[in-house]
Amino acid sequence: MAPIRIDNLRKGFGSLEVLKGIDLDIADGEFVCFLGPSGCGKSTLLRSIAGLEKLDGGTIRLGERDITHEASARRDIAMVFQNYALYPHMNVRRNLSFGLALNGMKRSEIDRRVDNVADILRIKELLGRKPRQLSGGQRQRVAIGRAIVREPKLFLLDEPLSNLDAGLRVTMRVELAALHARLGTTMIYVTHDQVEAMTLSNRVVVLDKGRVSQFGTPLELFYQPANLFVAGFIGSPR
Ligand code: ADP
Ligand code: MG
Repeated sequence: MAPIRIDNLRKGFGSLEVLKGIDLDIADGEFVCFLGPSGCGKSTLLRSIAGLEKLDGGTIRLGERDITHEASARRDIAMVFQNYALYPHMNVRRNLSFGLALNGMKRSEIDRRVDNVADILRIKELLGRKPRQLSGGQRQRVAIGRAIVREPKLFLLDEPLSNLDAGLRVTMRVELAALHARLGTTMIYVTHDQVEAMTLSNRVVVLDKGRVSQFGTPLELFYQPANLFVAGFIGSPR
C-alpha cells in the first residue's frame, strides 16, 4: 500500500517562496495530476516528493513511512522527466536493465522484468536498437519503461509528453491510462495542459502560486470550480 500524505510542505529558493504550505492526501493506486501555469511550483512539488529537493518544512509520508528525510525510501519511487535522457551508447535492453544490474539484481530476474516491460510498452522489437535509432515516441516509451522496470510503489511523471507532437501526445496519453490500469501503481503526473489533466486523472490538484487552489475530480473542477482561478484555468483554451 502506498498512499501519500503531505503536510504543510514548504520550499523556497533563496528569497523566492515556491511552495507555501501544501497539504495533500493521495490514495493508493490513484492517478493524480498536478495542474497549473508555468512557474506555479508543479515540478518543485514533484521533485520534493521524489526526494530531490531540500525542504524548508513539512512532512511527506509514503504508506506508513515518514520519508521526509529518508533517502532509502526513494527506492520505491521512480520518476520520468520531460527531458528524459537515455544512455546513448547502450541499446534499449541495456537502458532498461542498467539500473537493476547496478542494484545487484539477479540476471534471470532482470531479464524477466525487461521482457515484461517491453511487452507492456510494445517495444520488444526495439530491444537491440540504440536510442538514436528510435523515434521520439519510442524513446519516451523506453524512458517510461526504465522507470516501471523498477516496479516502483510510486510513479512520478513531469510533463513527459510535452516534447512530442500533438498526435503522438494523444496516443501516449491513452497508453499511459492503460498502463495505470494495468499496473495499479499510484501515479502523479505534472502538466500545464488542462485537457491532459482532465482526461487522465482520477483527481486533479490545481496549483496557483505555490498553493493548492483545488483538489478534486475532473467533474468537480469542471462543474464546481472552487474559485475564479480554477474556473479560468479549466475553461481556458489551450
Ligand atoms: P512549474 O513546474 O510549475 O513550471 P517550478 O516548480 O519549476 O514550476 O518552478 C517554480 C518557481 O521556482 C519558478 O519561479 C522557478 O523559476 C523557481 N525555481 C525552480 N527551481 C529553482 C532552482 N533550482 N533555483 C531557483 N529557482 C528555482
Ligand atoms: Mg515544471
